[in-house]
Amino acid sequence: MGMTDVLIVGAGPTGLVLACDLARRGAAVRIVDRSPVPPRTSRAKGPNARSLEILDDLGVAEEVLAAGSAPLPMLKYRDRLPVAETDPWADSAPSPDAPYDRGRLIAQWRLEEILRDRLAGYGVRVELGREVTGLAEGPGGRHVDVTFAEGRTERARYVVGCDGAHSSVRKLLGIGFEGTTAEDQVMVCGDVDLADGALDRTRWHQWFDEDGAVMLCPIPGTRTGWWFQAGPERDGRGRPLAPTADGFRR
Ligand SMILES: Cc1cc2nc3c(=O)[nH]c(=O)nc-3n(C[C@H](O)[C@H](O)[C@H](O)COP(=O)(O)OP(=O)(O)OC[C@H]3O[C@@H](n4cnc5c(N)ncnc54)[C@H](O)[C@@H]3O)c2cc1C
Repeated sequence: MGMTDVLIVGAGPTGLVLACDLARRGAAVRIVDRSPVPPRTSRAKGPNARSLEILDDLGVAEEVLAAGSAPLPMLKYRDRLPVAETDPWADSAPSPDAPYDRGRLIAQWRLEEILRDRLAGYGVRVELGREVTGLAEGPGGRHVDVTFAEGRTERARYVVGCDGAHSSVRKLLGIGFEGTTAEDQVMVCGDVDLADGALDRTRWHQWFDEDGAVMLCPIPGTRTGWWFQAGPERDGRGRPLAPTADGFRR
């Protein structure tokens, strides 16, 4: 059985950054993800300033800066009328300690594309559609046998779990997850298209009300794409209702 140095489970931002770092240091690295296609779901709006330093070290900061946009001022509405505009970064400036004074807006799927391209430059490609279902430590801890959903077993010197908040690797190792989850604190998120020119794309629009909030932020690199985020409607006892377009219109 062939053995790789490091098998990374999960090709989100964490796994991809680690894979790029190990690959450039000459480690034999493989990276697998259970998703059959690269994820295109609506998630993070971009790396913060300190993360940009890491991306710079990996040689992709320029590309990330070019593909994204500066964080936008937030325009807040009440009763449909704009009432306040805030720009948390208005007075920030780069310093020797912090060369990036602010993060960058960029869709998570776009950032992952850039990292996958970087990794491909080292000859490493994400192995898609490969779900890890089992781990077994070899004698003396010298290797790990990794079982996949399709039934194959492969051997690695090290396995790194970068498989997200619900991590299979964590569960397979019997490691707990400290803390609590507030099940009723939820938000609905999605990438949506708005008619061209419907809203000013130089602002992150945020409508607030006693009942909650609806927010729309333009997705950089798209012409009509927006990030939509909103609190759900709730029933009389405060329990979240299933999201509907009518509910958000209300
Ligand atoms: C709706 C939403 C909105 C968010 N908004 C923001 C935001 O505005 N700003 C921000 O900073 N963060 C935001 N986040 C958080 C951000 O998306 C996460 O912090 C980030 O994705 C974590 O990266 P990761 O690489 O650790 O894990 P993930 O991105 O979760 O990647 C884990 C990968 O592991 C794979 N995987 C899981 N199990 C297995 C297995 N058994 N075998 C193989 N592969 C497996 C999954 O398919 C996945 O691709 C948001 C998240 C969500 C869900």
